[in-house]
Amino acid sequence: MQFIVDLRSDTVTKPTPGMLDAMMNAKVGDDVFGEDETVNELEEKSAAMFGMEAGIFCPSGTMTNQIAIKCFTQPLDELIADQTAHIYRYEGGGIAFNSAVSTRLLNGYRGIITAEMIEPEINTDNVHHPHTSLVALENTVNKGGGSCYTLAQIKPIADLCRNKGLKLHLDGARIFNALAHTGDKAVDYGKYFNGISVCLSKGLGAPVGSVFLADKETIKYARRIRKVFGGGMRQAGFLAAAGIYALDHHIDRLKIDHAHAQILSETLSNCSWVSGVLPAETNLILFDTVEPAAIVLEKLAAKGIKAMSTDKRRIRFVLHLDVHPEQIEYTVDVLKSL
Ligand SMILES: *Cc1c(COP(=O)(O)O)cnc(C)c1O
Repeated sequence: MQFIVDLRSDTVTKPTPGMLDAMMNAKVGDDVFGEDETVNELEEKSAAMFGMEAGIFCPSGTMTNQIAIKCFTQPLDELIADQTAHIYRYEGGGIAFNSAVSTRLLNGYRGIITAEMIEPEINTDNVHHPHTSLVALENTVNKGGGSCYTLAQIKPIADLCRNKGLKLHLDGARIFNALAHTGDKAVDYGKYFNGISVCLSKGLGAPVGSVFLADKETIKYARRIRKVFGGGMRQAGFLAAAGIYALDHHIDRLKIDHAHAQILSETLSNCSWVSGVLPAETNLILFDTVEPAAIVLEKLAAKGIKAMSTDKRRIRFVLHLDVHPEQIEYTVDVLKSL
């Protein structure tokens, strides 16, 4: 039997029957008036989970990140991030466009940077230099193949930022995958970051939405920025209900995706058509191919396996809640026979 196995992204998931039920039964109101109780519940719940004071529900992770950058910088400032950062590579140049901020890029290991790497890149107070005001981390690192920071690695960065008067933002699109891998606690993240953005529509399986978490003052300003970015939504409680359901039901199961990633990455490392596999820590696998990736992707597609390339000879597999054990068995057989 041939399956369709969609390994392109963890954004391709569809709401489960339980999630659709929760959406149908949501109590809603006009959220721009602050009257949608389900949105309010999601914002309070997610902020509390991460030890933050407040939250704001947005249509996308790009919007939560861009709002965070706008909140934590002034025009003519500079932010520091790894060169793989989603905020820099995959948000359409929004850092410059929305915030008139320049970007200092570092060369981390699979997107992971350290306080030692950041410190020399903080500009001195001199009219020639943009004013460094923000450091942004990503956990897990998308382009790093799902690589993770532990809180022990984050602490020295947070200490440095505090000492130098810099804000620290986390692009936590896949933060729950990182927590599943490291065993760190979500609630401890609030101690280290000024802002955290969390995607509900990746591995957590909600159809739409991300939350930005910070202190009350910042979130009050973020509401202004969300409005001017065009992200004020009305009866958004139907979507927020999916997010609440995801937080209640889809966090513990992320370890299944990680186990699936381990099975596929082990299989790949024994395939003669594969020249190398980056160690899979979470739900992403990056591997290099002997033939051009486009040719391999065609062969996979002919067997119903959808994936994407991230380079001429590099392919990414992403595990998520719509990939079931029997599809993993099928994929293993296909990979072995390719
Ligand atoms: C997916 C993703 C985002 C947000 O993407 P949207 O499609 O705008 O929701 C942000 N950061 C990272 C690392 C991501 O993988």
